[in-house]
Amino acid sequence: METRARHQEKCDLVARQLSGIVSAGRPVRLAKSTSNLFRRRESSLAPSLYVGGLNQVLAVHPAELTAEVEGMAPYDTIVRETLRYGLLPAVTPQLKSITAGGAVSGVGIESSSFRYGLVHETVEEMDILLADGRRVVCSPAQLPDLFYGFPNSYGTLGYALRLKIRLIPAQPFVHLRHHRFEQPAEFFDAISTAVQTPAASFLDGTVFSPQEMYLTAGEFTPSAPSTSDYRWMNIYYRSLRHRTEDWLTAWNYIWRWDTDWFWCSKNVGAQHWLVRLLATPLALNSRTYQRIMRLAQRLAPGGGGSESVIQDVDIPVAQAAEFLRFLLTEIKITPIWICPFQHAGGGQYDLYSFDPATVYINFGFWDVIPSTREPGYYNRRVEQELVRLGGKKGLYSSAYFDRETFWKLYNGPAYERLKSRYDPAHALPGLYEKCVRV
Ligand SMILES: Cc1cc2nc3c(=O)[nH]c(=O)nc-3n(C[C@H](O)[C@H](O)[C@H](O)COP(=O)(O)OP(=O)(O)OC[C@H]3O[C@@H](n4cnc5c(N)ncnc54)[C@H](O)[C@@H]3O)c2cc1C
Repeated sequence: METRARHQEKCDLVARQLSGIVSAGRPVRLAKSTSNLFRRRESSLAPSLYVGGLNQVLAVHPAELTAEVEGMAPYDTIVRETLRYGLLPAVTPQLKSITAGGAVSGVGIESSSFRYGLVHETVEEMDILLADGRRVVCSPAQLPDLFYGFPNSYGTLGYALRLKIRLIPAQPFVHLRHHRFEQPAEFFDAISTAVQTPAASFLDGTVFSPQEMYLTAGEFTPSAPSTSDYRWMNIYYRSLRHRTEDWLTAWNYIWRWDTDWFWCSKNVGAQHWLVRLLATPLALNSRTYQRIMRLAQRLAPGGGGSESVIQDVDIPVAQAAEFLRFLLTEIKITPIWICPFQHAGGGQYDLYSFDPATVYINFGFWDVIPSTREPGYYNRRVEQELVRLGGKKGLYSSAYFDRETFWKLYNGPAYERLKSRYDPAHALPGLYEKCVRV
């Protein structure tokens, strides 16, 4: 745990750095040891804002089921701390390096989102450092426009230095049941029913083909007849195809996708038994694969003949089967991660709002596909389809929207109001300029 005094010292240091960069009229660039952004960014000489030190937990409040964490605290640090009290964040993104501030500013989701909404819907309060050096507290009661406008702002309104997040009681184990479906319509109907009559603690799915889809329901349990371990030689996503039920410790359940970056570890050869044996559990994780991938990007930026399609897209459940058909026939990336969610009630989040009465499906698909088309062709096709079907997408990867379409999706008028109130000098980049490749 970090002390308040030390936290203050670190915040003062970051604030001084920021005012130095801003008063020099220079663009600001967040310097962190890890990032889950997948936009190709030009190398920048912009001075770095070193925030890596703000990566600790400040306090866990078991009685009120909350924790206070620093803005760049990665979720594996947070979970390690809360589990000591038999508690977990209400929604924990499944990659260990995702941070609390990044999951709010960049939108996060996981298998408990069908109960608690997206990560930002489980936040109760934030300290935000604004470009003019002010540090403000925001919550539903204090500066509610900033509190409800901060999610999906991608560091263009300010930086979260402290967050108060909601926790849930956790049992030592999670009992998983994998239900196989061979018809997309039945698959999404079952998801809709499971969301509306929540029995499980966790719900997500994996699509291998139009005839092979799995809906996994997870339930906390105090004991388990035996437990599986997917941190080394065994590969979690492959287990779905030959087990109907499984038991994992709560820690191993939360990080079940991190060992193989879902299934993307195949792109660095880490699914070969010998590589796994030599790599050991220490290296088999998303941080390692990110580093390898960024190095590869620098050494071989990659030319024609292929297109990187790494996207998380949210579609109303009624249109989900149609979007899946499009993905399987035109984009042809499998497996696909499926995560249901719905708005958890409470206020609407202006830059990433959803119809409270509708269940949505998050489709996660991440790969490099062969292409003879112009650059960005398949990513644009995904954008055309999601707009047609009333969806949205996370902005952590490539985006090609025109301004009009972008601001229809992400609430241009609200963003203008927020920008003119919290960064009137535009010392931080604009959301469109930062997220869209023009
Ligand atoms: C393969 C893949 C799978 C993914 N799957 C999921 C998923 O299933 N669930 C999920 O939740 N997310 C998923 N993501 C997306 C990921 O959550 C987001 O990209 C998230 O924003 C990353 O957070 P980070 O802490 O790594 O932040 P970074 O990647 O470092 O930053 C993301 C953005 O947030 C801003 N930012 C970071 N910290 C702060 C702060 N403290 N205050 C203000 N702004 C800040 C940065 O400026 C940047 O614009 C996935 C990403 C990838 C690449």
